[in-house]
Amino acid sequence: MTVEKRIFNFSAGPAVLPLPVLEKARDELLSWHGTGMSVMEFSHRSLHFESILEAAEKGIRRLLTVPENYRILFLQGGASLQFSMVPMNLLGHQDTADYVITGAWGTKAAREARRCGNVNIIYSDEANGFRAVPKVGELNFSRDASYIHYTSNETIHGVEFKYDLDAFGIPVVCDASSNILSKPIDIEKYALVYAGAQKNLGPSGVTVVIVRDDILERVAVNQHSMLDLRALARNSSMLNTPNTWGIYLIGLVCEWLDAEGGAAMMQRRNEEKSALLYDAIDSSDGYYTGHAERDARSVMNVTFRLRTNELNDKFCDEATVAGMDGLKGHRTIGGIRASIYNAFPREGVEGLVDFMREFARVNE
Ligand code: PMP
Repeated sequence: MTVEKRIFNFSAGPAVLPLPVLEKARDELLSWHGTGMSVMEFSHRSLHFESILEAAEKGIRRLLTVPENYRILFLQGGASLQFSMVPMNLLGHQDTADYVITGAWGTKAAREARRCGNVNIIYSDEANGFRAVPKVGELNFSRDASYIHYTSNETIHGVEFKYDLDAFGIPVVCDASSNILSKPIDIEKYALVYAGAQKNLGPSGVTVVIVRDDILERVAVNQHSMLDLRALARNSSMLNTPNTWGIYLIGLVCEWLDAEGGAAMMQRRNEEKSALLYDAIDSSDGYYTGHAERDARSVMNVTFRLRTNELNDKFCDEATVAGMDGLKGHRTIGGIRASIYNAFPREGVEGLVDFMREFARVNE
């Protein structure tokens, strides 16, 4: 397939990757840096892979300004395994963790945590259909909570925090799967941040975990090795064979992000891209309805719907024909979801806005 034939891919994840990253991976596919071997073919214990792992780690450390007292791990099992590993490592049977639920992923995280200890849901917007996030200062934390968990961007509902949650000394754990590196964050506010790679970082099959050293010291003893965050950190993510190819691609994505101006530039571009779509929704005289409340609108996943399910389906079908794929909303909430991660080009957003206006005109 030629480059000209690439379409606008609005998929929620796995999602569009930067074209220069794919091109570089293609160019290096058969022989990485003159080794005569593909990245997929050499040992994870080789010097070659050591340098790849180091590049990915340094890239994330640089782009998110991660201090030296944090480890950066590249694990498997998806962000979903972190739903379990976080409480297995950090929540004793008698202890309590606070969970802030702003959508489907936080709900799943809390469900796994309940298997380990007490879970106190200190905020849930479920009754409102998951459209909002708590206001700054609105939360009441449990006394002696082992940690507080929240989801910085709920991918299905399109609901995003616009601030780093501060829990005044309680360790903050954040699932940042769908907005990591979309903007700068104050990493020192967090005890642990995790993210599946397949939206903003690379391909599926790698989960990045950024964890503060003192948190690792609290890990409950006698964990299964592959579920033991402390053991994984001590072994530089290499207790077993890591996803070498995925880690390589994360390194390339970091390189691309650096060349593009880093997280601050991504924030500017992402805000501009999402504003184009939200403006199209707001100026449609109610033809399109946004899902999230305004101050919680996601910059990464723009969720909206038309008046009927038939119109939602027609919209997606015709958009696909027009070269815009992956717009169907998640089956649990229906409607439309435009995922516009870092690598999603502005022209694709402009194309969708034109399509929305034309669709509304023709399907009055
Ligand atoms: N958390 C969030 C916010 C997500 O968007 C997803 C996946 N879409 C997950 C967790 C689960 O990730 P994985 O499929 O990598 O387990």
